[in-house]
Amino acid sequence: MKITEVKLGRISVPLRVPFKTALRRVDSVEDIIVEIVTDTGHKGYGEAPPTGVITGDTIGAIVGAIRDHIAPKITGLDILDLEDVLQTIQKSIVHNSSAKAAVDMAVYDLYGQYYNIPVYKLFGGARKSISTDITISVNDPDVMAIDASDAVKRGYDTLKVKVGADTSLDVERLSKVRYAVGKDVRIRIDANQAWSPKEAVRILSNMWSRGLDIELVEQPVKAGDIDGLKFVTENSPVPVLADESVFSPEDALKIMHMHAADMINIKLMKCGGLYNALKIISAAEVYGVECMLGCMLEAKVSVNAAVELACAKKIITRIDLDGPVLCSEDPIIGGAVFNEKEITVSDEPGMGIKGFERGRLIYI
Ligand SMILES: [Mg+2]
Repeated sequence: MKITEVKLGRISVPLRVPFKTALRRVDSVEDIIVEIVTDTGHKGYGEAPPTGVITGDTIGAIVGAIRDHIAPKITGLDILDLEDVLQTIQKSIVHNSSAKAAVDMAVYDLYGQYYNIPVYKLFGGARKSISTDITISVNDPDVMAIDASDAVKRGYDTLKVKVGADTSLDVERLSKVRYAVGKDVRIRIDANQAWSPKEAVRILSNMWSRGLDIELVEQPVKAGDIDGLKFVTENSPVPVLADESVFSPEDALKIMHMHAADMINIKLMKCGGLYNALKIISAAEVYGVECMLGCMLEAKVSVNAAVELACAKKIITRIDLDGPVLCSEDPIIGGAVFNEKEITVSDEPGMGIKGFERGRLIYI
């Protein structure tokens, strides 16, 4: 099963409503699609979103990394030499984790297809379905309360509430959201690096003393401030989940060794794909650190790969894979079934992605 061609394309999928965090606003998913073709006639698919404010990866950078660095090195390699192919992807260029992730998942897709096994079973097969939270964008507190109750009406029982844009409003945001949804809905919050360590402890303690019942806080402080993250972890009543602070397996090991966070958020686009995500998972299993599996604003090809991983491993106890349900349509054929919060993994060999609705994948 030799790689004969690495094709690239673009896909555009509008969001239901704009996605707003402390770092950015997005109106549609505009991602790069990778299609790896082999001499056996098989096709494997991958996807990379340009998330410049988090990964530094732009459309141009993703295309350049794959076209000029990764594709020339893996073309001609045999998918069945899996370790060799995966290491070649990682070594072909530094950084560029989204480009690597897109190619990596297409390779695993083909490997699973060859051996006629779904990737989630190849990795462990812990379960067939998972339940995701849904993101509530940061807005005026009253708008967020309406968005939160709408999400609960759609069946979501876990909300991921974005905070940190104008931090003076954050406690009010959570008060109004909690009041709108009642006490039975799980609420986790994501500050996307917006707070200082002391500010984080003050805000979280305030929320705690008001009985707002926050399950966890994601990335309260700057990505590079590991000492600050540890300070929050040690002093906040709310458990801390590291997101932007953890890209590589090395980052994850450092944070777990320092006890700088209570949990780790794994995203394929940060760590460079399934190959490195599995290393983070193994380390987390050793340390007993539970993980969230998250995504950027991505369409179904790459979120589907994350679903395969999430369904394989028990250490992944929290799911933030709402990219496809934030989209207003789904032009991708095959893969996991997304029915609001319930996600059911595909039992097709590999990843189960069959292709795209006519005209939606624009080859570049
Ligand atoms: Mg986050």
